[in-house]
Amino acid sequence: MGKHWINGSFVRGATRDFFTTVSPAHDTTVSEYALGSADDVHQAVKAARKAFDTGPWPRMTGRERANILIDIGHRIRAQCDELAHLETLESGKPITQAIDEINATVDLWHYAATLARHTSGEAYNHLGENKIGLVMREPAGVVGLITPWNFPLLIISQKLPYALAVGCTAVVKPSELTPGTTLKLATIAHESGVPPGVINVVTGFGDPVGKSLSEHADLDVISFTGSTEVGRQVAAAAGKNLKRCSLELGGKNPHIVFADADLDAAVDPVVFGVYFNMGECCNSGSRLLLEESIAEEFTQRVLELAAKVPVGDPLSPEVKVGAIINEAQLNKINQYVESGEHSGARLRLGGQQIPTLNGRFFEPTIFDQATPDMPIAREEIFGPVLSIITFKSTEEAINIANDTNYGLSAGVWTTNVDTAFEMSRNIRAGTIWINCFMEGHPELPFGGYNDSGLGRELGRFSTDEFTELKTIQLHTGIHTGSWL
Ligand code: NDP
Repeated sequence: MGKHWINGSFVRGATRDFFTTVSPAHDTTVSEYALGSADDVHQAVKAARKAFDTGPWPRMTGRERANILIDIGHRIRAQCDELAHLETLESGKPITQAIDEINATVDLWHYAATLARHTSGEAYNHLGENKIGLVMREPAGVVGLITPWNFPLLIISQKLPYALAVGCTAVVKPSELTPGTTLKLATIAHESGVPPGVINVVTGFGDPVGKSLSEHADLDVISFTGSTEVGRQVAAAAGKNLKRCSLELGGKNPHIVFADADLDAAVDPVVFGVYFNMGECCNSGSRLLLEESIAEEFTQRVLELAAKVPVGDPLSPEVKVGAIINEAQLNKINQYVESGEHSGARLRLGGQQIPTLNGRFFEPTIFDQATPDMPIAREEIFGPVLSIITFKSTEEAINIANDTNYGLSAGVWTTNVDTAFEMSRNIRAGTIWINCFMEGHPELPFGGYNDSGLGRELGRFSTDEFTELKTIQLHTGIHTGSWL
């Protein structure tokens, strides 16, 4: 492609330099993109600003915007195969999963369309005779959206349609590893009738593209998904300019199985929870907390199932675990496996890169005898590595679950409703799954406590991030009362 998408068309970058993406599974070049600069970001923000300040998008009716968002969803579905193929080539994720994600993406656009018609303010009728108070929701303005490589189209679709629904305009910076489907999305939106300048995409590296976007004074909101470390930098830049900022960051999510759980039902979701998307997932259930009395029996069952997980070429429909995104991520996984062995955890499965001619594949890996103080039990590995910890009581399970800087999600398996609610009330995380894991619905908010982020995506509250409140106070009838 080699160009940014700015003001409704593909444009060359200021530097005219390029970079390429490489398939993590095949080590072949996928595509060529424009190497963005601060100048390109400035042009994109300028276009988005103009589209917001004087363009039709924020002035359209909710119905008009909703119809366009619905059309975008339909066009995404119609191009599912092409989008899924590109997603798999750039990210290394299994093709069947990529197809599922494209379908989930359609649902996100269609749900956001309902918010274009339903987002509203409040009216106060009890402030005094002849007085009415109105609280209006207005679009916040130009939003900057920075996204990662693990779920490229899905994550931009957790942000962009919600911002568009309420009338904002956007500048998007996709990960330099996976920009393909985001650029494609911009052209799909254009075909659906999104006016020029409403969506702009600048490709390139975190520094300078993401950095100059998060520092840009003409943005009104910045929304970021990625590492906690970069999230802090984005928040600091937003703080300097006093811009609203929302962050969806990492997790070290506990998946907790009590002795009274339906163990037959729990095994598959535990294995899915950690190896889904190669473990490169902020919601990964990478800490398995097992009640001591069932720990060995359940570990055996998890080991047996994990050993059967098909790892390999993500273009093959049978494969469930594809390739690790890049060398840096592979090194990080290897270092954590070494750290697990050195810190005294017991390696029960995997632990090695799978030797192949091309690409980077890693064995599903399991450590037991992990303790909450070990790096493998505390830090986000972002790879197919499970750390098993045991507990003796509900109180201990809660303490271990909360013994982390993160707070994104948790899973609880129990047949006791009291235990389910005690865990739900006491675990400090944005989502608690009871007797299920990593289910998602556009209606339900998503986000984290502590180092897992700021703010919430999805659900009807998601538009809070992209709207300003305006208070209007009105007197009716003859004006009464005077100061002097
Ligand atoms: P990053 O946080 O570096 O990348 C996320 C996005 O931020 C990318 O678009 C990136 O651009 C951009 N970015 C990088 N530096 C800056 C900056 N200074 N200012 C603004 N934007 C910037 O994640 P990584 O890809 O490096 O992954 C590292 C680790 O982060 C993973 O191992 C994992 O632990 C965690 N992570 C968490 C994710 C989540 O879903 N919560 C998603 C991805 C990673 P570019 O890609 O061009 O560098």
